[in-house]
Amino acid sequence: MPSSLKHSYDAIVVGSGPGGASVARAMAARGLRVLVLEQGSAAPLKGTLGQMAAIAAVPGKGAFFHGDASLLVRGLVAGGSSAINFATAAPPPAAMFAAHGIDLEPQLAALRAELPMAPLPDALVGPMAARIMQAALSLGLDWHKLDKMIRPQICRAGCWRCVYGCPYGAKWTARDFLDEACAHGAHLVDNAPVTRVLVLGGRAAGVEVQIDGVSTAVLADTVVLAAGGIGSPRLLHGSGLAPRVSPFFSDPVIAVMGSVDDVDGGAEVPMAAGLNLHAEGIALADLTLPKPMYQAFALQVGRFGRLSAHRRTLSIMVKIRDEIGGAIGPHWVDKRLRDADRAKLKQGVAMAHGILAAAGAKHVFQSWHFAAHPGGSVRVGEGVDGDLQTPTGGLYVCDASVIPGPWGLPPTLTLLCLGQRLGEHLAGSAASQRQQRMPMFIAASGPPVSSAADAR
Ligand SMILES: Cc1cc2nc3c(=O)[nH]c(=O)nc-3n(C[C@H](O)[C@H](O)[C@H](O)COP(=O)(O)OP(=O)(O)OC[C@H]3O[C@@H](n4cnc5c(N)ncnc54)[C@H](O)[C@@H]3O)c2cc1C
Repeated sequence: MPSSLKHSYDAIVVGSGPGGASVARAMAARGLRVLVLEQGSAAPLKGTLGQMAAIAAVPGKGAFFHGDASLLVRGLVAGGSSAINFATAAPPPAAMFAAHGIDLEPQLAALRAELPMAPLPDALVGPMAARIMQAALSLGLDWHKLDKMIRPQICRAGCWRCVYGCPYGAKWTARDFLDEACAHGAHLVDNAPVTRVLVLGGRAAGVEVQIDGVSTAVLADTVVLAAGGIGSPRLLHGSGLAPRVSPFFSDPVIAVMGSVDDVDGGAEVPMAAGLNLHAEGIALADLTLPKPMYQAFALQVGRFGRLSAHRRTLSIMVKIRDEIGGAIGPHWVDKRLRDADRAKLKQGVAMAHGILAAAGAKHVFQSWHFAAHPGGSVRVGEGVDGDLQTPTGGLYVCDASVIPGPWGLPPTLTLLCLGQRLGEHLAGSAASQRQQRMPMFIAASGPPVSSAADAR
């Protein structure tokens, strides 16, 4: 065991993405002794292709090729997928959570007041996003700027590094909350994959973790799994606490691209603006990505003639709310689109074609589908209760796994609300347990006179 690691804590949080970092921060700020164990590295983000590839493109770790030619990605790094995400914020759907007795409004109000979260100022909306917005508006679509978790005073126009991991601190990531948790006394250990939850007498008792290749047991009465939509169901299964496979959603995406002659761009914050057809479960947004990612899309579908057109190619993301299905297995994932999912993608792609045509784009082509929102694999109401507790006492899940149903939205803000709520709940329970023990303690060590009287 590393010398800095204690033998036991009040709470262990496994994973440091939005769910884990927020629950850790809320508990540490209320005085709990918190250990955060993170499989990935906490080295500073550099905003390079190489670092991003190590975080999210290693097959079987960050990237899963599966099903019908689909790619699913996640970030294995301190801060989780938020380190490489597109920083778009959407509020939690109140009705979905209210159905499970969960009210996230107080946490949402507090986070709105605290976080950088607003549409980008015009100066930071890139020329491609602006051109797509102009075309969508000319068609009468409700295309509007999206809330971004970006500090505009630090963000640089003409920069695209947020996609690889913003090195300037302009993009909010879960690392911001992780830093705060540590400032409140939480202990973070990175490069520390947890292998299983320890259970004693039907209750969580701690975890087994690999540190420097050595398996170590660390104890705590409270364990929060926040290993993400793929990691948490796997840990539950690996601990003998859940079935071998878990169905899930992934919010599949297709990029639709076409080139224009009068724009010279390719370097901007993606998803500056878009629209959400909630009833249909379809969302569209601009999706300008760095050159290597664009070229991967073109290569994927054999459009070799478009490889050099990055700076002139407008790109629109079509994302859908897919049904829960498929399987997360111990070492693999598999999910095929259903007919209803294909129909939604087809409708969204047709809209994107219309917008690109209105923008004057030519040579239009589309990528295969891919996804970056694995979740719903340990759902509230099935795998956990309204307090995010599993049937094993003291064992909680707090990440995209617990989202109760088909999704289709940027999840980060919702996960921050859930993490804050759970952290407040766990700190409150710990405080009331301490209070309950207090009278016994006072009685046990009470005034010598009464003790002496009792003794007589
Ligand atoms: C390219 C991309 C763009 C995106 N864009 C947006 C966006 O614009 N807006 C938005 O809201 N969302 C976006 N998302 C999705 C969003 O980032 C994720 O939904 C969110 O980060 C999920 O948070 P989480 O806490 O569930 O898990 P994660 O962020 O996946 O964090 C889980 C953490 O657990 C760690 N872990 C896993 N297993 C173990 C283990 N056994 N032991 C220890 N640690 C472990 C992982 O390394 C990781 O750090 C995007 C995602 C990607 C990949």
